[in-house]
Amino acid sequence: MRTRLLAIRERIERACESAGHDPSEVTLIAVSKGFPADAVREVFDLGCRDFGENRLHEALSKFEALPQELVQACTWHFIGTLQSRKVPQVVEAFDVVHTLDRESQLVRFARVRQPVTGLIEVNTGREPQKGGVLPEDLPAFVQRFDELPLVRLAGLMTMGPAAASAEEMRPFFAMLRQLGKQCRIGSWLSMGMSDDFDVAIQEGATHVRVGTALFGSR
Ligand SMILES: *Cc1c(COP(=O)(O)O)cnc(C)c1O
Repeated sequence: MRTRLLAIRERIERACESAGHDPSEVTLIAVSKGFPADAVREVFDLGCRDFGENRLHEALSKFEALPQELVQACTWHFIGTLQSRKVPQVVEAFDVVHTLDRESQLVRFARVRQPVTGLIEVNTGREPQKGGVLPEDLPAFVQRFDELPLVRLAGLMTMGPAAASAEEMRPFFAMLRQLGKQCRIGSWLSMGMSDDFDVAIQEGATHVRVGTALFGSR
């Protein structure tokens, strides 16, 4: 695990160097979905403090299995599809929600009494089966958050189309950066996974979500 983490940190540094970014501006989110609490603890001991999970119940059972202090010392990122009815529990368990993408979630967020950081997911690849708002619908969706003062919009997130090579992902990452500039919410750009985070960083990613390259294959 240590070797893999070092390799990832090196890739982050190299990508930052080639693009003139400061590595301290890139947050590595360790995507621990599908891996047990022990794996989280191991990565925590190596210095990671940001973790990503895509299923509420899986995350909650890891929180149970881990020491309270460890859970509290970390920033927990929800990166899975967010079903409206699960909004209250997700807000309670997680610090950042990366997958704001539909009207039906907003009604639920309106009833939540707790602040949360949110990113709007954009379907940059325009794939019908994927979550995320379409780029042209983004401005109107952003406006809806004026009614939700407890949701602090920090920026945007994208997955990009599946089965593309890292280099083929570049235009989609660049599109997210462009959209972020246009809609003037926060400056976070959550983009890039194990195979393509180098390219994402070159295109301005502030948060990369890395599972396989760190924990191994699921
Ligand atoms: C699983 C997942 C990742 C991590 O993907 P890897 O290819 O394992 O690095 C990143 N983002 C989201 C939304 C995911 O579901």
